[in-house]
Amino acid sequence: MSLVNTKEYIYVTLNFENFKHQEISPQEDLLLTMFNTAVSNLILFKNQSRDMLSMAKKFQDGARLFETDSEILQAKLCIILKDVSKADEEVIVKEFRSKISQLVSEEGKDNFISRMYKGRIDIVSWPKFDDAGWSKTLSNISKKLVRQEAIHEDANNFLQNIKIIMAKLKICDWTSLEKTFIQIRVATLTRLLPTAVSYGLEQEDPIIEHLVNRDSGEPIDDQIVILSDILSGYEGSTKILPDSEIQLYDEHESFERLSKDLRKYFEYIVQSRKESSNDKEWFANFDKFFKYIIERRTSRVQNWYMQNTAKFPQDNSDVVNGKYAMEQELSKLTLLWTLCGLICHQCGLKCVKNRDHQEDHDCLTDHK
Ligand SMILES: [Zn+2]
Ligand SMILES: [Zn+2]
Repeated sequence: MSLVNTKEYIYVTLNFENFKHQEISPQEDLLLTMFNTAVSNLILFKNQSRDMLSMAKKFQDGARLFETDSEILQAKLCIILKDVSKADEEVIVKEFRSKISQLVSEEGKDNFISRMYKGRIDIVSWPKFDDAGWSKTLSNISKKLVRQEAIHEDANNFLQNIKIIMAKLKICDWTSLEKTFIQIRVATLTRLLPTAVSYGLEQEDPIIEHLVNRDSGEPIDDQIVILSDILSGYEGSTKILPDSEIQLYDEHESFERLSKDLRKYFEYIVQSRKESSNDKEWFANFDKFFKYIIERRTSRVQNWYMQNTAKFPQDNSDVVNGKYAMEQELSKLTLLWTLCGLICHQCGLKCVKNRDHQEDHDCLTDHK
């Protein structure tokens, strides 16, 4: 393996030629072909013997195992005919090409060129090393590579893809790679969902992991918001706590306890309830503030899920089910943070318990 780092890309060259000299079983050989096809942009296949049939048979076996996979298989197959002199070039390439078209018509739509390479195949005759054309051919190959679109978004993705492909090959899982990618991604998001909903984070303990776009590595936006943007009538530039610093759910806590910090925070940065002469107004602002906090969490979690599933077909059942599970969790959160607003059983202030609370209405002040 060798790497070339350019400004735009990292080119990774994998050379499997040494394997060919060792004793490898036909099945291992097949796995190599499939691995190659799944990870590569451009495959240079050196056809030693010009025995078209045995080569084609091997590829054809691989094609039967793969499901047609729109996103994953992007490789272009370049069959190299080695040591061809200029004089023979035309005849040899032509002959090879006609054998390929014959094979394609015999196999019909299941032919390996369509299934594995979507028709992206090239036949290149390569002159002997002492021929002037040798390096010219090399530079033509490099042009082909540059024209290919990158299939792995970045080094992170490349590593992840390679691991999944190897794991699938190992367990002889021949189903579509794309389906596996989707399943893994949605399973990860579903596992992180409770923490995302509760904290606006992917992980809270032992170290904080923020919500991220797992493809780009970019964090999900957690904008700084100024109080006057959400409550009319407030001026100045007081910033409110970012979403990722507020806990909004804990299955072991009552709503009164869970909302206590945020209630105190509101009284501190907006208005203390004791100093308010109009409780109706105070409550309206308080209610608005809570609603904003919940809407912000909801939209960040939705954004996180959307960004992390954007590259998949939106009607895929895993993507749809994951989204449904997320919406369920978020609507539970909205319900939990909906205030009661009826009159306290001990004074005239409004009740700030949750809408569905049991027991007496309570303003949660000293009622004085
Ligand atoms: Zn109440
Ligand atoms: Zn009261």
